[in-house]
Amino acid sequence: MVSVYEIPVIEGDGIGPEVVSAGRQVLEAAGEAHGFDVQWREFPFGADHYLETGEVLSDDALAELENYDAIYFGSVGDPRVEPGVLERGIVLRLRFAFDQYVNYRPVKLLDGIETPLRNRGPEDIDIAVIRENTEDFYIGLGGRVRGESREHHELERGLYDASFDVDAETDTEELAYQLGVVSKPGSERVVRYAFETARERGDDRVAAVDKANVMPDMYGLWREAVESVSEEYDIDHEFVYADAAAMDFVRDPGRYQTVVTPNLFGDILTDLGAMLQGGIGLCPGANINPDGVSLFEPMHGSAPDIAGEGVANPTATIWAGALLLDHIGEPAASESVLDALTNALADGSVLTPDLGGDASTAEFADAVSSKL
Ligand code: ATP
Repeated sequence: MVSVYEIPVIEGDGIGPEVVSAGRQVLEAAGEAHGFDVQWREFPFGADHYLETGEVLSDDALAELENYDAIYFGSVGDPRVEPGVLERGIVLRLRFAFDQYVNYRPVKLLDGIETPLRNRGPEDIDIAVIRENTEDFYIGLGGRVRGESREHHELERGLYDASFDVDAETDTEELAYQLGVVSKPGSERVVRYAFETARERGDDRVAAVDKANVMPDMYGLWREAVESVSEEYDIDHEFVYADAAAMDFVRDPGRYQTVVTPNLFGDILTDLGAMLQGGIGLCPGANINPDGVSLFEPMHGSAPDIAGEGVANPTATIWAGALLLDHIGEPAASESVLDALTNALADGSVLTPDLGGDASTAEFADAVSSKL
């Protein structure tokens, strides 16, 4: 009997529909090759829907999405909508509603893709970055304070140097703060996910990234979580400061296998990783709740500058589709999709303009599908 997977899909804005359409085609082809069917359940959320109805993401849709394991997602963001409305209202809302506490970003250089690092190839760049996705400085706890005296701040916080330019008229300053929070269970669960990933990949070491030297409370707790979870595994671990990790990613990326990191450092390191692996059109990401609803997406945004031209590179989205297949229990199909993608890129005869070719999004998707 043929398995049937029902997958909710949110194409979103800009190049979202173009790259998701390419991804859907490749996943369907993978299904044909591996004996399963994919049925797409389309959700209309994004700029057009918001501008037509005023609705960003409905509660009904959220309740319905809860019945699925995996959402296939394009990108949201549109010049007609104030920045952040759709990103917060859709991506972040889904992330927090479904407690997608793992952000998985394979920083892997595929065959046929050039890295800006001199004399480095695919054998040097293959890092599984596991970023904590719900805590740290991204919890929205912060505020701004106006009208307090400068002396008070100096006394309380020691923040300002004597040359700080105070407005002579009002003699007031503005102060802002943002709080980061790291919890023991929040750290332990993502660290455990990282060790599981390392075990699956056959890695012999997990690198845990932090800044425990300057933020010893938050990242001290984080380190304790790493220490205690590591005892459950026969895999080494090391602690690396985020600034050192950033240097190493460029200087010696082969030193890293699985990396686990709190939210903010992960955000920055994965963008650095995106460049190592050849550009933003090539990077997939997964927001995962291993026991709930996960979301698979390209890392790039809606790229309004090239939207509608049919030239966006769908690699990131196709690869995100491969991650989705693995997640829903089709690892062989997942591997085939990544192989087909790699073969199409290495073949090099059908490439999108960002990779120096002149093929359209759809032509590249055809090239990948034909290799399945
Ligand atoms: P956001 O804030 O949503 O991330 P952004 O404009 O900062 O939006 P992107 O939308 O990712 O970032 O686009 C950044 C640049 O990369 C743009 O010039 C865009 O055209 C290019 N780009 C992004 N994705 C792709 C892709 N899949 N194929 C080709 N070019 C892309």
